[in-house]
Amino acid sequence: MSEVPTLALNDGSEIPQLGFGTYQIAPEHAKAATLAALEAGYRHIDTAEMYGNEKEVGEAIAESGLARSDVYVTSKLNNGFHARADALSAFDRTLEALGFEYLDLFLIHWPLPAVGDYVETWKAMEEMHRTGRVSTIGVSNFHQVHLQRLFDETETVPAVNQIEVHPYLTQDDLRAFNTAHGIATEAWSPLAQGNVLADPVITAIAERVGRTTAQVTLRWHLQRGDIVFPKSVTRARVDENFALFDFALTPADVVAITALNRDERTGPNPDEFNYIP
Ligand code: NAD
Repeated sequence: MSEVPTLALNDGSEIPQLGFGTYQIAPEHAKAATLAALEAGYRHIDTAEMYGNEKEVGEAIAESGLARSDVYVTSKLNNGFHARADALSAFDRTLEALGFEYLDLFLIHWPLPAVGDYVETWKAMEEMHRTGRVSTIGVSNFHQVHLQRLFDETETVPAVNQIEVHPYLTQDDLRAFNTAHGIATEAWSPLAQGNVLADPVITAIAERVGRTTAQVTLRWHLQRGDIVFPKSVTRARVDENFALFDFALTPADVVAITALNRDERTGPNPDEFNYIP
């Protein structure tokens, strides 16, 4: 059913390049939203302990009638659980909340460079991986300096780095660093939470190709090779954000959108973000 391509990760596994994001979907809406995404054809769901909706995401997958192995699910270790023992038990709780025997991808949500020791946390992630209950491990919001410490002090190169990327924050240096080390880039807030959708350059391209600005922006990410999981609770937008595989941007379009970069974040800078809930 799905025409979504998969990308090969550095541990030999495969990930669907397009998924569905669940940040800011309240628990009471998360089951219906996830079911709608699965019905629309999405087979990759991005959640996190921090989002408070793992349980509802798991319920939706169980009720969808799909096999567990047909849906790729990511969750993330919350900021309060960076110490080894806390990380191991937080992972158990994530599996329990989702109702799963195994998780496809588990990420350290933020490096918290000033308050924790993400190297210890990564070693705990390696332990989880060795149990076979998580197929792939990765990180989120890691900068080059954080990744370099993992390369120097641990055995496993993360399979993915999930970072904020969109036309106003193109992240070309960090994306190139990820690629050079065999790490796949996942682009969070791929639409800048809607902020790029009225951009005149993107609007002109959208008019020319007969698509919406959201579709053009998501297509730009896909053609740059990143993994994306836009979020919407509006069914028409959920469908729209999935209809990306029957048109293409020209190389000049991709260059023009990349040139919109303003190094403008919608979320916090990981170097300065040390929030523990
Ligand atoms: P997004 O860029 O996907 O934007 C979502 C918002 O854009 C929606 O709330 C809606 O207002 C609007 N929108 C979506 N589709 C639209 C359409 N077709 N037309 C018009 N408007 C549309 O933002 P996001 O939810 O922040 O990011 C996507 C996912 O990335 C999240 O749900 C989450 O899974 C992940 N994420 C991860 C981190 C992290 O720290 N790792 C941080 C933020 C988000």
